[in-house]
Amino acid sequence: MLRFHNYDIVFQEVPGEVTLAVNISNCPNGCKGCHSPYLMDDTGDILDENVLAGLLEKYGNAITCVCFMGGDSDPQEVERLSAFLRKAAAGSIRTAWYSGRQKLPRGCGLRHFDFIKLGPYVESLGGLDCASTNQRFYLIENETMVDMTESFRKR
Ligand code: SF4
Repeated sequence: MLRFHNYDIVFQEVPGEVTLAVNISNCPNGCKGCHSPYLMDDTGDILDENVLAGLLEKYGNAITCVCFMGGDSDPQEVERLSAFLRKAAAGSIRTAWYSGRQKLPRGCGLRHFDFIKLGPYVESLGGLDCASTNQRFYLIENETMVDMTESFRKR
């Protein structure tokens, strides 16, 4: 089960997309210098199909993508909800997942996502817009991960 703290429409997190970013709590990664330490607590409302269907109804015409920000405490649930969203939106909405794991969790597939970001935040290396970053942002094409991290530094 996943809980979320809040959501917001953002423009930088997924290149080329108007994204509804859902901030998921109970993050297990414990990155030093975390930008949102409150997301480490297991708080907020349950994130389920009803909530996502409501968000789609409310924002579906204003966005092109929904991004799960976190969810590493239950990756299979992120995958399941992403599959639900894509089906519910009938192809009109892309989905993205910001994971703080270095690698895709075992048992998690690519086919239910359009974008995946991997890697914890390491203060000394910086975020996606830093040349030194350890994080990677991928476009998922035919279940293949295409590294497009560079696009964060061209804007
Ligand atoms: S993955 Fe993100 S939210 Fe979780 S501890 Fe690291 S920086 Fe914070």
